[in-house]
Amino acid sequence: MAIATQEQQVVEGVEKRLLIGGEWRDAAGGATFPVIDPATEEPVCEVADATPEDAKAALDAAVAVQAEWGASAPNDRAKILWDAFELMMERADELALLMTLEMGKAVAESKSEIVYAADFFRWHSGDALRLDGVYKQFGNGTSRVLTMKQPVGPCLMITPWNFPMAMGTRKVGPAVAAGCTVVMKPAGATPLCMLALGQILEEAGLPAGVFNIITTSSSGKVTGPLIEDPRLRKLSFTGSTEVGRKLIEAAAGSVLKTSMELGGNAPFLVFEDADLDEAVEGALLAKMRNIGEACTSANRFHVAESVKDEFTRRLAEKMGALKSGRGTEEDVKVGPLIDQESREKVAELVEDAVSKGAKPLTGGELPGGRGYFYPPTVLADVPLDARVFSEEIFGPVAPIAAFSSEDEAIERANDTEYGLVAYVFTRDAKRAIRVCERLETGMVGLNQGMVSNAGAPFGGVKQSGIGREGGNEGIEEFLETKYVAMNMD
Ligand code: ADP
Repeated sequence: MAIATQEQQVVEGVEKRLLIGGEWRDAAGGATFPVIDPATEEPVCEVADATPEDAKAALDAAVAVQAEWGASAPNDRAKILWDAFELMMERADELALLMTLEMGKAVAESKSEIVYAADFFRWHSGDALRLDGVYKQFGNGTSRVLTMKQPVGPCLMITPWNFPMAMGTRKVGPAVAAGCTVVMKPAGATPLCMLALGQILEEAGLPAGVFNIITTSSSGKVTGPLIEDPRLRKLSFTGSTEVGRKLIEAAAGSVLKTSMELGGNAPFLVFEDADLDEAVEGALLAKMRNIGEACTSANRFHVAESVKDEFTRRLAEKMGALKSGRGTEEDVKVGPLIDQESREKVAELVEDAVSKGAKPLTGGELPGGRGYFYPPTVLADVPLDARVFSEEIFGPVAPIAAFSSEDEAIERANDTEYGLVAYVFTRDAKRAIRVCERLETGMVGLNQGMVSNAGAPFGGVKQSGIGREGGNEGIEEFLETKYVAMNMD
């Protein structure tokens, strides 16, 4: 009972209306939609269902304060971000529980995400103080070059459900540091984290209108008109490549500046000289973090023939031992997937692989009962034409195949339209650098199963995206460079 009360408290404590111009208000017409707990399939609560009219009001609010916010003191912007970081850390337990209720992952994992998410505010608070430009001569020694960095302007941010807090702060942190205003549209499945973040930013002193939130069950209809609105200056999206493509197309109309963090199909390469303990631990993290529902998730394992059986056996043992259940329960490591559609897709990919000859060593069977659960699954001897190797799984399934040479490993790793991240396990330093250089990805985990860090540039090449988030690069996405040619005659 104590747990139920705590759950009720965190749900009651979060706003469920739209945040527009510093006011929390119902959607025009008063519609709401339910937030579902994926572990029980029961509604957690209802939140406001924004209309295109609400979205326009949110952009109006962002536009109205852009000039003033863009001219605010860097110290003030830095302090707001730092205070918001501290508030998030103080409330990490409640925020983690809220996240688990709407998204499903184990509370300990949700808490790690809150810490990771808050870190973007700490990291980017420093950026507010370091927006600089250059002063130099023309090559012929006559005129002078002066550059200044200015906020890009009002931004639309569209975020996914898999990391409902971090994918927001990773965009909001640099936008606030740069002096941009924001209309945020979180995923319909997980609106509560962003609403809680709105409350925190308000408490941290963010002026009214700088951060506006529209929650909606009809994303395309509500954000479409904003993307066409010439007052919008930036679209920052994290989600599937499929939706990203549509948004890039829509953004072309007004040549809108876009950042795209899209899908992945991460290869996990284990060479014969790898430290197998490290490789198995790295695999567990790269595969099972976020129940496999991450664009950075290891999607396919390519393992040197001589160590394949040992690696496969050990990974299956570890994955088979992970306890599944509602993320709020003690010792649970694997929560449910986000919805029935995701679960069906995972089951379909496993069935396809098995029908082509793959052998499930653990998992592979749909459980009965409530909740969108899928068990941790290891598939051995997966043929390369299985769909599981070319499509993003977004679930706890590890398909494994053997390779016989370094060239073959790299060729397979690069044989995808995606290019987000790759994982490489080897103890040979020269090979490590050689392989990193040849991989067509934006990021590489070298003897490490996780790459995400606020201080590092996150992003992909090929169809995994455009732009970088975090690191020194993240702030650049929210700045324009203005150059002044100065006559010195
Ligand atoms: P994922 O399933 O990984 O969350 P999606 O691309 O389906 O990826 O969703 C990411 C975000 O994009 C969510 O906030 C979702 O509501 C939003 N979205 C989905 N379709 C559209 C669309 N046509 N226009 C604008 N936003 C969309």
